[in-house]
Amino acid sequence: MTDIYAGPVFEMALTQFHRIADRLELPDGQRSRLLYPKKAMTISCPIHLDSGEVAVFQGYRVQHHLTLGPTKGGTRFAPNVDIGEVAALAVWMSWKCALAGLPYGGAKGGITVDPRQLSLRELEALSRRYMQEMIPFVGPHIDVMAPDMGTNEQVMAWFMDTYSMHQGRTVSEIVTGKPVSAGGITGRREATGLGTAHLIERAMQSINLDPGKCTAVIQGFGNVGSVTALELVRRGVKVIGVSDHTACYVDKRGLDIEALDRYATVNGHLSDFSSELLSDPKELLTMECDVLVPAAMERVIDAHTARRLKCRIIAEAANGPTTPDADDVLDAERPEILVIPDILCNSGGVIVSYFEWVQGLQQVFWNRDTVVAKLCELLDDAFSKVISKASSEKISYRFAAITIGVQRIMDAKQSRGLFP
Ligand code: NAD
Repeated sequence: MTDIYAGPVFEMALTQFHRIADRLELPDGQRSRLLYPKKAMTISCPIHLDSGEVAVFQGYRVQHHLTLGPTKGGTRFAPNVDIGEVAALAVWMSWKCALAGLPYGGAKGGITVDPRQLSLRELEALSRRYMQEMIPFVGPHIDVMAPDMGTNEQVMAWFMDTYSMHQGRTVSEIVTGKPVSAGGITGRREATGLGTAHLIERAMQSINLDPGKCTAVIQGFGNVGSVTALELVRRGVKVIGVSDHTACYVDKRGLDIEALDRYATVNGHLSDFSSELLSDPKELLTMECDVLVPAAMERVIDAHTARRLKCRIIAEAANGPTTPDADDVLDAERPEILVIPDILCNSGGVIVSYFEWVQGLQQVFWNRDTVVAKLCELLDDAFSKVISKASSEKISYRFAAITIGVQRIMDAKQSRGLFP
């Protein structure tokens, strides 16, 4: 069974899960039910390139469990995406939704493609073809898509339009993360970064750090990384290092994040922003700072890096940035570092996606203040639950967060029976 999803990212989810399952003393049958995805779909997406040639891209969608409601999860367009990575991301989504108390199972989708190599027309053709192929597999009460790495509001609008044309009516609740002009919710684009910054502030309070005296380093300057940077600056934190896949900049006096954000919005990357501030991206994660925010991709903090970290807080805005080996090092050798685990740290995105889905189903609309207030309420609640479980059971925040998520799914499965 594991062969279908074999790969380093699924291995990570597997290791994390078995650690929790061992602690909860779960029998094998229950482990398989809780871990393996309920459904997975792979598709080929042929499109006409601008050159007139036909290119075929592989796409995936994995639905982890159907026990708590429809499945929910982002869609990733990236060159290395495979079904194992998508499955791991779906498992993490399940734990994340359960921890936040949302009525969803986790899902994830993706296409193996570098979207930056496509023209806008080619990207639209691929996005529409992907959704077209997925129509029998998804639905507002079955599986609801959202953006992730390499996709954005525009891609969600194409998904929604393709699905709606097939139904013969507008079905805005089939995706979240749409443009506000097409039925999206105010604040969804910023939700993951805003939630990350909010939780960093909570973590700072818990260890008596003053945001006005703190520094931060952020890897990844896309949707999540850039908003986290802007929100930290708003809270008085000095952001001294940022990177994307093209460049890395460091300024101990504090980078001009607004200027970097304007530049990245216009150019789509950070390269050529400045030659004086250029720095070695390999050194970024181990720079001295108060808060380290990995906001790009998986497995960037391994055991070797974990030993060399010089931060007080790791805020995992990306999914799966810390390997289980690194977790061992952090637990055993680095008790001074507070880790806000990914399934808590970046859950602002799916929480506001849930608000957007509810709005779409009920045809009601909330203003930004309401959205942000409700978001912070749910984040604070999840944060308090994690802290309290970690301290009462003397376990790490990651262990506590995953245990709460797995336990909720397990309880629901036990009360419902074998079917879902
Ligand atoms: P994005 O595509 O908008 O941005 C990704 C960023 O990472 C880009 O700046 C890219 O240049 C950078 N990057 C890629 N490779 C890099 C490298 N080797 N070194 C440094 N930077 C690199 O994606 P996003 O939506 O911001 O997602 C980032 C992470 O956050 C992913 O792990 C994603 O799963 C997670 N996440 C996103 C959301 C969301 O709402 N978008 C929600 C939860 C979690």
